[in-house]
Amino acid sequence: MKSEGRWRCLKESLNEITRYDFIVRGGGEMAEIYDVVVRNGLVVTGAKIQKADIGIKGEKIAAIRPGLPAKEAGRLIDASGKYVLPGAIDVHVHPVYEDDMGGTSVTAAHGGTTTLIHYAYAKPGMKLIDAINRFKESGFEKSCLDFGIHGTLFDPANQVKEIPKAFDLGVTSFKMFMTYAKLKWMTDDYWLAAAMDLIGANGGLSMVHAENGLVTDYFEDRSLKKGEDPKKVFLKTRPDILEAEAIFRAISISAVTHCPVYIVHLSTARGVIPVQRAREEGRVVYAETCPQYLTLTDMTLQKKGPLAKIGPPLRLEADRVALWKAIQRGIIDVVASDHAPKTKKIDDPFFEAAFGSAQAETLLSMTYDEGINSGWIGPCQWVRLVSENPAKIFGLYPKKGAIQKGSDADLVLFDPSQIQEIHQKTLHSGAPYTLYEGKKCLGTPVLTMQRGKILVEQGEMKGKPGQGKFLPTKIKR
Ligand SMILES: [Zn+2]
Repeated sequence: MKSEGRWRCLKESLNEITRYDFIVRGGGEMAEIYDVVVRNGLVVTGAKIQKADIGIKGEKIAAIRPGLPAKEAGRLIDASGKYVLPGAIDVHVHPVYEDDMGGTSVTAAHGGTTTLIHYAYAKPGMKLIDAINRFKESGFEKSCLDFGIHGTLFDPANQVKEIPKAFDLGVTSFKMFMTYAKLKWMTDDYWLAAAMDLIGANGGLSMVHAENGLVTDYFEDRSLKKGEDPKKVFLKTRPDILEAEAIFRAISISAVTHCPVYIVHLSTARGVIPVQRAREEGRVVYAETCPQYLTLTDMTLQKKGPLAKIGPPLRLEADRVALWKAIQRGIIDVVASDHAPKTKKIDDPFFEAAFGSAQAETLLSMTYDEGINSGWIGPCQWVRLVSENPAKIFGLYPKKGAIQKGSDADLVLFDPSQIQEIHQKTLHSGAPYTLYEGKKCLGTPVLTMQRGKILVEQGEMKGKPGQGKFLPTKIKR
């Protein structure tokens, strides 16, 4: 196997040399005029790093190789000393709080994201299809980034039957909550099975927030009656075993309904186990975690109280380490932000405060700083986690998530030597705080480009609301 792979590599590079020779000798290259040339960067994809120039024509990548003739390019961008990546694809954003679809796209673009997949909330009493149409319209009007939509069911008993119609609208992934029973957002096993049955039959993907909500609620009520410290109650009533149990249950229901399942924001060492087991059995199970679980722990919750109240909660250091190890072993496929910016104050009553925090703009920087500077992963795996894998899972690859001839020219220039000090004031979310206040990250996105057009350059927004295109998703089978 190994020698065959090496032979293929050799053959490919010989082909490359022959092609290059042909162009140089034939002089054909002189005729190539690009709209933009990104020069001298280290081009990083999920597969390799190469020093190369990227030639862009219109919205697409037209050439990738060293020494592209740039004299006549419409614009020359010098990427010396910088990584050039496919833009991040953030598939976990909630555009219903302090940032709407426009605001989310602005804050995300500043952080190096070029594609978003939003949760379209169909709250109880709403029709799933109406929600999808409403979010689509809002995206057309306000989004400066290309976007897709996940159907999000809060009232499955009334909404499940609409699932097949959503496919006609380009929506093929559907999220449900196995927790938040008190908020009346929970999908029970009956409706989870009913939804997965329909999603699977139509070739879609189910997505679950996997925590055992009813058990959590019971223990929460019991502890609060005793007057215990709310932060401790919050952690104690959401133990890792209730995440692992819900993941195992979701995977089991997905197996009997023949529906692939995507576990959002996996947060514990114990939760990794059922995912790994299912993979070994050959099941189609995807797992996602978020920068907050990879960089923060329960210590932040102790310090910042309601500001750090997120669901699932921030975990122990041992969980954080286990998540990085699961990434190294390829068990976790995606890192997405879970951007849910809320207005909260540090002294708000803990149990009344909302769940969630602003995370979209810091997605790339936090995963780079902790992932690469601390040695957990290399640049190619970083690109796979934040761009290539989500593109593949949701059927956007290689239009998105790739730097290939013919791919959309969605690029990020990332300067690995520039230190970024994170402050709420310099971020672009409407959230009045960040959990990373004062943190110094080594590595900063300095330019974001979408389909050949510069969106953000040196912190300045050049994109316009409404320039984002809707991306229908298509689940790989
Ligand atoms: Zn979320």
